Amino acid sequence: MSKDLRPCPFCGLQARIRKINDKHYAVTCIMNCAGTKITTKEKAIEIWNKRAIV
Ligand SMILES: [Zn+2]
Repeated sequence: MSKDLRPCPFCGLQARIRKINDKHYAVTCIMNCAGTKITTKEKAIEIWNKRAIV
């Protein structure tokens, strides 16, 4: 099951996953105007996609 990242709700640009360490990730947009907390990969994606506008 793959989860796609939605575009940034603020600038509409692409989001990306930043790996912090083996267990921690954050999702930010490429302009760094929005981001999630540092958490697990799945949770970071989930938080991001809930925030993003479809
Ligand atoms: Zn953005």
